[in-house]
Order: sequence, then structure tokens, then C-alpha cells
Amino acid sequence: MMQEKAVICFDCGAGYTFSVEEQTDFQAKGYNNTPKRCPACRETRKTRQLSSGNFRSIQPGFRSERKLFPATCAQCNKVTQVPFEPREGRAVYCRDCYNTIKTPR
Ligand SMILES: [Zn+2]
Ligand SMILES: [Zn+2]
Repeated sequence: MMQEKAVICFDCGAGYTFSVEEQTDFQAKGYNNTPKRCPACRETRKTRQLSSGNFRSIQPGFRSERKLFPATCAQCNKVTQVPFEPREGRAVYCRDCYNTIKTPR
């Protein structure tokens, strides 16, 4: 005998009702467990997984928020951009020189 269930969404924390119709629908699809997420979040998750193929790599806005600072390479004097603010007296290297320096002997 099925009953409506109150579910707290794992993602957004909102409560929603897992209705009898929905449960029937779920069982028809072969799911026996109660969903952890509200329908909206499930939909979002599904869309994300489909578009990326890798859920973990999704960090919205991560790249665009990353600030780059102009700097001059201490090795080759090329103007480059670094993801941190260059400090006075601290050598900054362009990517090429940095890789050369950091390469293990
Ligand atoms: Zn939700
Ligand atoms: Zn350089």
C-alpha cells in the first residue's frame, strides 16, 4: 500500500511531496527507492550530466571568475598573465619558463 511521502530535497533543501502517482511511475520505471531530490533538481542534474558527461567537473562560473594579472616574465621578459597578483620582489615567470624551471631534474 503506497502513501504520499514528504521528501526533503538533497540539493536545494526544499520539501516536496512524493505523490502516489509519482511512486507508481517510479516503480514502473524500475526504481524502488525514494528519490533524494525534488523533481526540479533531478531535472537539473540530468541535464548537467548529459551535457558534460562528468558531473564533478561542473563548477559554474569558476573559469570566468578566475582573475588574471598582467606580469612580466623574470626569465624572458615576455608579458604574460598570472592567476595571482604579482608581488614586488617576487619573480614571476611565463608559462613556458615556469614549466622549464619546475621540471624535475
Ligand atoms: Zn531540489
Ligand atoms: Zn618566460
